[in-house]
Amino acid sequence: MSLCQYTTQFGPCKNEAPEGFQYCETHNTIEKEQKERKKVFNYQLTRFKSRFEELSTNSALKTLSEEVGVLRMVLETCLNRCKDEHDLLLASTQISTLVNSIERLVMSTNKLDINLGQLLDRNKAIQLADEIIQIIVAEVQDEEAVAKVAAQITAAMNRITVAP
Ligand SMILES: [Zn+2]
Repeated sequence: MSLCQYTTQFGPCKNEAPEGFQYCETHNTIEKEQKERKKVFNYQLTRFKSRFEELSTNSALKTLSEEVGVLRMVLETCLNRCKDEHDLLLASTQISTLVNSIERLVMSTNKLDINLGQLLDRNKAIQLADEIIQIIVAEVQDEEAVAKVAAQITAAMNRITVAP
């Protein structure tokens, strides 16, 4: 007979482990359960990752939203793993870290969303310039003047939209 190898929050377990076993009967079960939970958790994490890789995109906004989704799923899994108050207490640091991360990401996403909404994108700017030229063509009879105005608008557009 040897002592159980399990370390509790109060120090090493003082129970004896049965012959050929590393842990006492109680901790043998706990150890097995924790390994099983870790396996399930890792499996779920892999599944989340592959699901989000399928949705991969270049858009910064889409990426941020996806990250919020992943974090929410991790939080949900984390909460589901807690069977009682003791589990919840043990996981409290992890849970509050997750909640804070989600909050920060949601704020960034909202900010980016507003910024994108207020920006006139390149294609829309080019479309606007085209429409301005059409208006001038329709209203101004002097073809030479129209040609000059159109050239200046085009030049201005190129200056503004040269950067992608
Ligand atoms: Zn033990």
